[in-house]
Amino acid sequence: MTKESFDGISTRAIHGTLQISPDHSPVTTPIYQSSAFVHPVGSSEEVMYTRHGNNPNQVTLGAKLAALEGAEHAIFLASGMGATALAHLAVLRPGDHLLASSWIYGGTLRLFTQEFGKLGIDVSFVAPDSQRNWRRRVRKTTRAIFVETPTDPTMRVVDLEPLATFSRERGIALIVDSTFATPVNFRPLEHGADVVIHSATKYLNGHSDIIGGFVAGSEAIVEEVRLLMQVWGQAPDPHATWLAERGLKTLAVRMERHNANGLAFATWAAQHPAVLKVHYPGLPDHQDHEIAARTLDGYGGMVGLTLAGGAAAADAALRELKLAIHAPSLGGVETLVSEPRFTSHVDMSSEERADLGMPDGYIRVSLGIEDVADIIADFEDAFAALQP
Ligand SMILES: *Cc1c(COP(=O)(O)O)cnc(C)c1O
Repeated sequence: MTKESFDGISTRAIHGTLQISPDHSPVTTPIYQSSAFVHPVGSSEEVMYTRHGNNPNQVTLGAKLAALEGAEHAIFLASGMGATALAHLAVLRPGDHLLASSWIYGGTLRLFTQEFGKLGIDVSFVAPDSQRNWRRRVRKTTRAIFVETPTDPTMRVVDLEPLATFSRERGIALIVDSTFATPVNFRPLEHGADVVIHSATKYLNGHSDIIGGFVAGSEAIVEEVRLLMQVWGQAPDPHATWLAERGLKTLAVRMERHNANGLAFATWAAQHPAVLKVHYPGLPDHQDHEIAARTLDGYGGMVGLTLAGGAAAADAALRELKLAIHAPSLGGVETLVSEPRFTSHVDMSSEERADLGMPDGYIRVSLGIEDVADIIADFEDAFAALQP
């Protein structure tokens, strides 16, 4: 066996590319809680400074993330939004056009619509479920295509391969936000993407206790992101970086449980009279089930429910829940619920949200890793309290 042959996804989450540990070295990475590092006198070597992305905690975690995504390089940043912003700035220049999926995280939508115009970057949006849409809206100046998959909050799954072929033919960079899948369930680079973005705040760290993000891709792109980080300042703190590395070690076992709980909960909800529609790509009647079954290694722990009783039922059910916590994030060990009409999609009208597949009465559930019988019992009780 060579070191490189230990390459299972759980092994990579723990060890990255295996290093042989010298005698008396620590088993885990120490926290280098230092802003600056001693610089050799008279040396023109790169200065070691935590904002520069060369703190040992950042370097170690970056290598593990690259190993997980199957990327040449990866860099950990202070937030998922920081990762999204800098990945795009690494590729786009004034005068360029960005063609983005319209099924994206609210913060990303605001970045594209409120900020990119000021930088001379034109953005247009297309529904990503038809190849024709992309072909119709592409321009000579299109330099990047951005998609999120699976999507928030309706769990649509985008087929990347035809999009990757289309982008490659035109020399366009394909950038994918893969936060909901994690590298355990889906690795976009294997399907032709050029750059992968994650909010590590979610499943990657998994314990709802830090904000972080990462970008993975070619060495050239990641180095460009690192240089941008040095001047725009989205550098992560060493302690948060260390926590993310610690969280990452259990990613594969957590995802196994998230996947199992997601499927069990969705299957239960699909037969409940209080639920009009379940949005989960693991269910055979989900509109993207075929794509999901073909491309994902797991369907994830995010489930959307449209309640038969509409907005009033959603509010009433959320008040009754005792185990599930009403909070706007996802991907933690604890089950979280939210109503997109008050959080990510608060800026839209009821009609606009309904068009995107989330009418009033839509709740998003991030299944934690508790016993699924307890989670189901909590929702069973909450739904029993609703007016028939
Ligand atoms: C949360 C989230 C982000 C933003 O990440 P932060 O870590 O909160 O900055 C981006 N994309 C998706 C899909 C998310 O869920």
